[in-house]
Amino acid sequence: MTTEMLDLEIGLYIFLLAGFLGFHVITRVPPLLHTPLMSATNAISGISLIGSLVVCGSFKDWPSTILGFIAVACSSTNVVGGFLITDRMLKMFKEGKGHETRASWLERWFVPLCCVLCAAALGLSIWLIHEKIANPRTALTYLYILSAVLFILGLKGLSSPRYARKGMFLAELGMGLAIAGTLFDDQLKPMGYAWIAVGLAIGTIAGASMGLRIPMTAVPQRTALSHSLGALAATLVGISEYIHIEHMGGVKMTAIGFEVVIGALTFTGSLIAAAKLQELLPGTPITYKGQNIWNLLLLAVLVGSFLYLIYDPTMSPLFFVLVVLALVFGLLLVMPIGAADMPVVIALLNSYAGLADAAMGFVLANRIQIITGSLDGASGFILSLLMCRAMNRSAFNVLFGAFGKVPEAEAKTEAKGTVRSIAADELAVLLDGARSVVIVPGYGMAVAQAQHGISELAKQLGAKGIDVKYAIHPVAGRMPGHMNVLLAEANVPYDQLYEMDTINPYFAETDVVLVVGANDVTNPAARTDKSSPLYGMPILEVDKAKSVIVMKRSMRPGFAGVDNELYYDTKCMMLFGDAKDSANKIIAALKA
Ligand code: NAP
Repeated sequence: MTTEMLDLEIGLYIFLLAGFLGFHVITRVPPLLHTPLMSATNAISGISLIGSLVVCGSFKDWPSTILGFIAVACSSTNVVGGFLITDRMLKMFKEGKGHETRASWLERWFVPLCCVLCAAALGLSIWLIHEKIANPRTALTYLYILSAVLFILGLKGLSSPRYARKGMFLAELGMGLAIAGTLFDDQLKPMGYAWIAVGLAIGTIAGASMGLRIPMTAVPQRTALSHSLGALAATLVGISEYIHIEHMGGVKMTAIGFEVVIGALTFTGSLIAAAKLQELLPGTPITYKGQNIWNLLLLAVLVGSFLYLIYDPTMSPLFFVLVVLALVFGLLLVMPIGAADMPVVIALLNSYAGLADAAMGFVLANRIQIITGSLDGASGFILSLLMCRAMNRSAFNVLFGAFGKVPEAEAKTEAKGTVRSIAADELAVLLDGARSVVIVPGYGMAVAQAQHGISELAKQLGAKGIDVKYAIHPVAGRMPGHMNVLLAEANVPYDQLYEMDTINPYFAETDVVLVVGANDVTNPAARTDKSSPLYGMPILEVDKAKSVIVMKRSMRPGFAGVDNELYYDTKCMMLFGDAKDSANKIIAALKA
């Protein structure tokens, strides 16, 4: 068996095992932490930095040094920005007063012990290299294994908000160790270090300003932008490798092909996703006649070119055509998707970025990149499937259905009965007399930035001895875990947040449900109306409560574009207006 085949075989074993491990660890991350999970895997996928460091620092020639330099800047932006924003989010999740539990001995000493272990491993490696007992490559291999363990522990920490920050610290330590170890790689040249230093400085500044300054509401577009940077790094490293590898065989060509194709389409696709979410491009789906046919044709040409290159890797013009085709395909894939559906696309692109990273690992025979790429791929895939399931959509419909574009017939809403409205001071009286209140936040709360007012209102009710709970639907808002992050930002302890399955049986005995800018996730048609596009989607069963108050501005539908029959229920009353203004009015009325 050739070395190339042996590397491939070992790489595939590692890829599959890491994928299974990732599946096991990531499915245990609670919905509460799904948004931090997205940014954490994004930061970890910045491990493409180590491949970029080698390409940049080996200083083989100007084109590859420049490609490597850009890749270093992009990947380090992801590492720094991703870890900073994850930590910012995790810091917000707090336990409620009186619920804190004492940390065990192991909990207190685990992280310091890991730090000592890593410092010792790094020191030992440097000593072994210096004494010529081990060559740098061998020492680096063991450091990478340690880093991989730390990454997995880091993701495992996300299975509870209690350990999440400590876990992320371990992942940061793993990243630091992998980067520090790579800097001792014997392929790096003195001149290469200068380029690396500048690239790292640019990435650190860009990443830090993104990670520290971006508001929580802009997390989806930041995540999309980071995927595009990571994917660009993978593509550039792939191009540089293609230029340099002499006597390229079919196996290497396959790995490079995957790296540049997935990297390039993720790069442009993620850029479009970020631009739509930032409203730089229209959020509505951009569609034209025969779109899916054209896309399939392009895909066929792309696959054909790829296969020919595997047959004859020396056809360099075709290689660059392949890169351009993949760039165009990424654009065309995401253009027809509406901005509101972007979170599913972002999770999928997260998965693609992971696969591009893993392919880079195959090209460079770098196993830690295969592991992290596989973990990242698994995480994005699981999140997108969870979102599809919670939205009652198929993955096929997500990719090819031009979703977000509501068919005319479904978009039409007509009054189905009498709608009752309520004023803020009347609501204050109703709340004052209640024993239990459940708050159901939705996308409108995010739009109005009403989380602080709602948290203040809940505190006032709590002070009056009223039992207040928050009910969180897995796809309320526009990204997984959206409501959890917003409420954490408003200092709501996470033990007051109840997931859908836990809270649903409780609605029947709830006096007042306060629906704050949520719509689809409360629509009873999902249970009763087979013709509704929402039919089958699990919902928060607020209609079972004794009374329901909906805070929104009008009778307009939500994301799915369908009327909500809850609003015509005799138990339901509407408090029309911006959710933040309404919350302030209720607080004032309660005080009065
Ligand atoms: P929704 O169904 O989109 O409804 C949001 C409601 O908020 C609207 O009806 C709107 O009504 C109201 N609103 C907007 N601005 C407001 C303001 N300033 N003050 C008060 N109300 C305001 O939201 P949802 O119930 O949270 O459901 C989420 C939807 O997004 C689901 O259909 C889900 O499938 C989809 N989705 C979620 C994700 C995810 O990961 N979370 C991803 C993709 C898609 P007015 O205009 O009348 O005020």
